[in-house]
Amino acid sequence: MTGVCYLDANATQPLRPAARDAVLAGFSVTGNPSSVHAAGRAARRVMEDAREVIASVFGGRAQDLIFTSGGTEADALAIHALGRGRRAVVSAIEHDAVRSAVEGAVTVPVDRGGIVDLDALGALLADGVPSLVCLMLANNETGVVQPVEQAVALCRRYGALLHVDAVQAAGRMAVRLDRLNPHSLAISSHKLGGPAGIGALLLAPDAPFAAALIGGGGQERGRRGGTPTVALAAGFAAAAREAATDDLAALAAMRDAAERAAVACGAIVCGDPARRLPNTTCLALPGAAAGVQVIALDLEKIAVSAGAACSSGKVQTSHVLQAMGLGALAGQAIRVSLPWNAAAADIDVFAAAYARVAVRLAAGNPTEKHGPTFR
Ligand code: PLP
Repeated sequence: MTGVCYLDANATQPLRPAARDAVLAGFSVTGNPSSVHAAGRAARRVMEDAREVIASVFGGRAQDLIFTSGGTEADALAIHALGRGRRAVVSAIEHDAVRSAVEGAVTVPVDRGGIVDLDALGALLADGVPSLVCLMLANNETGVVQPVEQAVALCRRYGALLHVDAVQAAGRMAVRLDRLNPHSLAISSHKLGGPAGIGALLLAPDAPFAAALIGGGGQERGRRGGTPTVALAAGFAAAAREAATDDLAALAAMRDAAERAAVACGAIVCGDPARRLPNTTCLALPGAAAGVQVIALDLEKIAVSAGAACSSGKVQTSHVLQAMGLGALAGQAIRVSLPWNAAAADIDVFAAAYARVAVRLAAGNPTEKHGPTFR
C-alpha cells in the first residue's frame, strides 16, 4: 500500500509486526492441539498461552474464552448460545453481524448523538419477558461509545442477558468483562492489529451457554467445533497484548486535528463528540454523496469508507445515521478511522486532500454529486 494514506482502521487495522512474527512462529508448529502426542501438546501449549493472554487483557477467565473465526461468528455464537428461548432486543445501531443473527428482534432507538435510549430499554425489559439484549460497546461508523454499564444494570435488574459487541472498542478503549459485567463480549483480532480470520467470544462465569453453533469434534470445550488455528491465535494474542499499550491520547489528538480540518471545509461531525473512540470521526459533507467522497478521496490516495466496510458496494444509506435522525446527511457521511500506527503526517495529507475534494464537490460537478452511498 505504498503511497496510500490509510485511514480506514475500523474496516481492518494494519497487521502489527509483533502479530506477524507470532503468526509466522505459530505456522512452524505442526501438531493439532487435540492430539495427545508431543506435537499436539506443543500446539496446545501455544493455543492455551494465547487464550490466557487474550482472556487476561479483556478481564475474563481463560476457560470462558471461545475462539471463533472472527467478530461475526462471535456475535452469532452469543446470540445462538445465550438467546435460546429469549426475546432478542437490539439497539438500532448494531452491526449487521448482530442484525442478521436475530430474527424478529425488538429495536431500541438511539438519540441524535447515537446513544442508545436507556429509558426505552428499561421500559421494555420491565415487562419481565426473558430477553437477550445486544448492545455494542462502540459503534463502527461513528465511534460513539454506548452506556454499557447502565445497560448491564438494567439487564441484571430485570433478569435479561446482555451480549456486548466489543469488536470496535477492543484495543481502542479499556474493555474488561470483569468491570463491565455483561454476560458475553465479542472481540475480533483484525480490528486490533492482529490477523483476520480469528476472534473470540468471552463469557461471564454466570453466562448460561445453551448450545454450540458449530458442533464438530467437541473443540473449545464442546462450544465450537473445528480444528483451531494455532498461528492465528498466537497472532491475536500478540496484537491484544500490544494494543493495550497504544498511546490513545496521541491517537485522539490526531483524530481531532483531522476533524478540525474537515469542519473548516464545511463538514459536520456525526455522533456525540464527547463519547467516542479516540480514532474515529464520522464526517458529513452536506450535498455530497458519501460514495462520491470516498471515490474522490481514493483518487487522492486516501483510504476512508462510507459506513461499514463489510457491505461496501451496496447502494444503501447507513442504518446507523438514519437511526440517529440525520435525514439526508445519512447518505453524505464518510468514516475516517485512524489505525494504531497513524502519524501526524497522515493527517496533514488527509487535511489537504479533503480541502481539495470539498471545494471540487461544492463547485457542483453534477456527475460527482449523485454517486452511490455505501453502508
Ligand atoms: N461487530 C462490529 C461492531 C464490527 O464493526 C464488525 C466488523 O466491521 C463486526 C462485528 C464483524 O467482525 P469480523 O470482521 O471480525 O467478522
